[in-house]
Amino acid sequence: MHIYRSALLRFSEDGQALYDEDGLLAIGPDASGRQRVQAAGAWHALASQFAGQHVTHWPGRLIAPGFVDMHVHYPQTDVIGSPAEGLLPWLENYTFPHEKRFVTQGYAEQVADFFLDELLRNGVTTALAFATSHPQSVDALFAEARRRHLRLMTGKVLQDRHSPDGVRDETEQSLIDTEDLIARWHGVDRLGYAITPRFAPTSSPAQLRGAGKLAAQYPDVWIQSHVAENLDEVRWVRELYPRARSYLAVYDGFGLMRERAVYAHCIHFDAEDRALMRARRTAAAVSPTSNLFLGSGFFDYQAADRAGFAYGLASDVGGGTSFSPFRTMLAAYTVGREGQTKPGLSLSPRHLWWQHTAGAARALGLEGVIGNLQPGCEGDFVVLNPQATPLLARRTAQAASLDELLFAMIVLGDDRLVEQTVISQAKYAPGA
Ligand SMILES: [Zn+2]
Repeated sequence: MHIYRSALLRFSEDGQALYDEDGLLAIGPDASGRQRVQAAGAWHALASQFAGQHVTHWPGRLIAPGFVDMHVHYPQTDVIGSPAEGLLPWLENYTFPHEKRFVTQGYAEQVADFFLDELLRNGVTTALAFATSHPQSVDALFAEARRRHLRLMTGKVLQDRHSPDGVRDETEQSLIDTEDLIARWHGVDRLGYAITPRFAPTSSPAQLRGAGKLAAQYPDVWIQSHVAENLDEVRWVRELYPRARSYLAVYDGFGLMRERAVYAHCIHFDAEDRALMRARRTAAAVSPTSNLFLGSGFFDYQAADRAGFAYGLASDVGGGTSFSPFRTMLAAYTVGREGQTKPGLSLSPRHLWWQHTAGAARALGLEGVIGNLQPGCEGDFVVLNPQATPLLARRTAQAASLDELLFAMIVLGDDRLVEQTVISQAKYAPGA
């Protein structure tokens, strides 16, 4: 059993933040030998249960759930910060030429290795990630994630049309490759497969139909794609699928909306789209740094809450501009101001934090597994140092409430805040 003593943040089932200024977190094996949180709460209430055991004490630090990135492209690690007019020119001029390189297994392995270290350095312990259309890019990421004992989901990108040579796949073979990869990786250790059409414009109806069949055949496999990010893209989908009621309805028509389906962006939606998200129990990956960078538009939080569908936060690197959950939460706060009709905060600090941890886990169908530190959870966590920079130290020392403390870290924080990322018993200290 590992016992940790520090300030401790976790979340109740209804998304309320639970905070112990002097907390205790105990992680140890369950009956099947898997590492789980055994106890979490106030030190004074729990310490007597663990008398005589070794305690790792981190005074002045904060233990918080590992962050969950609901949408990120590992092959775009080297595309981050590429200047473009918008989504479609960005894909054509930067992303597609770069993704061609993942045909080489050794290259894919090297990027996967760097990418996962970068996630961990930023405190992200679970991601739902795009690979490329090359099956070897999926093998490379899964193998590296397994080596680090990570809970991670990825999949081979499906794109059999409107894509250049080198990334375009072939319809029938792409579905065979997908099924082979599901058999090879889904459920191995902490890994999960995601059926991954890039987006409706780059998949033929036959490919989307095949993806939908696989989604029905393997109901606990994830589905990930993009929808309604950019107005030019929305127009293009209308031309390609003139009979669909909306862009989102294209996916629904092929059986690609269900639990464990996650669509990035969900910006240019109407009320019927939002109702469909809820009815199909499908989740949105909100990617605010990407939306600001590419000028795509703003996710409508109030409309999403009115409709009652699930969502959580995502970096969307390389359209997104940072791996850091702090940058993403700050951008979400900024975006939440847009169209605000009621006075007050755009989104509360604890709700922003929840969207990137327990809320994201719920949206992924992994509630009670990751993204939280309640008993029974797998117990991936970060150790944050609120004194990491002179300004952070000065500002957090004056925080008079939990919201003030969390918000100071959201606004001023980045990878320097993350002193350690702990995956079960494996520790990753930046620079170590
Ligand atoms: Zn994306």
